[in-house]
Amino acid sequence: MKALTIIGGGLSGLVLGIGLRQRGVPVRIVEAGTYPRHKVCGEFLSGKGRAVLAALGIEPRLGAVEAHDVSFSLGAESTVARSLPEPALCVSRWKMDAVLAAIFCELGGELITGRRELALDGEGMVRATGRRPLAEEGGWRLFGLKAHAHGITLRAGLELHFTPRGYVGLCAVEDGRTNVCGFFRSRAAVPQLARDWREWLGGEPGSALSATLSGARWDDASFSSVAALGLAPRRPPDGELSIGDAVTMIPPVTGNGMSMACESAAAAIEPLARWAAGAVSWEEARQELVGRLAREFSARLRFAALLQRAVVHRQARWLLFQSARLLPAVQSVLFRQTR
Ligand SMILES: Cc1cc2nc3c(=O)[nH]c(=O)nc-3n(C[C@H](O)[C@H](O)[C@H](O)COP(=O)(O)OP(=O)(O)OC[C@H]3O[C@@H](n4cnc5c(N)ncnc54)[C@H](O)[C@@H]3O)c2cc1C
Repeated sequence: MKALTIIGGGLSGLVLGIGLRQRGVPVRIVEAGTYPRHKVCGEFLSGKGRAVLAALGIEPRLGAVEAHDVSFSLGAESTVARSLPEPALCVSRWKMDAVLAAIFCELGGELITGRRELALDGEGMVRATGRRPLAEEGGWRLFGLKAHAHGITLRAGLELHFTPRGYVGLCAVEDGRTNVCGFFRSRAAVPQLARDWREWLGGEPGSALSATLSGARWDDASFSSVAALGLAPRRPPDGELSIGDAVTMIPPVTGNGMSMACESAAAAIEPLARWAAGAVSWEEARQELVGRLAREFSARLRFAALLQRAVVHRQARWLLFQSARLLPAVQSVLFRQTR
């Protein structure tokens, strides 16, 4: 069998590596970082990605907390907690990526950490390197912050708070921790995030978010940030075989990026296993994957782009929030359209 190299040992790269090892394909993953590590992420996994983790036998190893309901807040106002159409998994990336890396190694995969690969495509190479940095989008700098805290009582499994500068999601993960993760945008450079992150995540005085976080005991070591996010849907360059955020990034407000990373990895398993067995050429495997991803993700990405535009626009955000508050069906429509 031919061997594959996956560049990037985040969610998509590790899930693909596990799926291919389960089919006996020789796989090496090259990861720039090490495990465990904190990562900016809402740590809320929902939708079809759950089924991928279950089918590969991964889910029981994660020790995740289930979220059953969601509430939205704008300023001081909150919706009641309403059931999610399907329960979601909440697990820190600190734990999740390390568990996946361990499973990949147990299955005989070769994992190289601490090495940033410079050659990212070519026959036998899968790009799972995550988002492609974009300094500005439409004149805005987009960035994400996250930290864990103890001492927080949530009124729903997932709380999503809209703020004038973006949105902040909270969910309970393992070990009594709450993950607090925000997406923000700014016209000007924001140089002091390492100093000011509590203020960005903490919400406006008098808001439901600041009330929820009033007793927070932050785990400073869990703070992480990511800048240069680009959310407009894009296509990867011709000839490249990529999965996860390396294909395109769905706006975080959907809470669906991890699912898409898992789904795109699952979609790549069969075509790549056939290539490894010599049944199809690299280009045939690549074309099949591109077709599968387009069929599965195009409509979801278009809807998510509209939703993202709405939540960062003051009047549209207010309208969306009031609709979600008064009409229970709005929440399930938003959920289903992005999944
Ligand atoms: C603010 C924010 C909130 C989010 N909230 C949620 C949420 O609640 N739910 C959800 O489902 N999704 C959420 N997401 C999205 C989710 O985190 C991503 O979609 C997911 O991590 C994508 O997985 P990936 O494997 O494609 O990329 P990543 O997880 O980013 O992994 C890429 C890996 O590649 C490595 N790498 C990069 N370049 C190289 C190189 N040259 N050589 C070697 N290694 C390399 C990196 O070190 C990294 O480990 C959020 C994202 C943001 C920014």
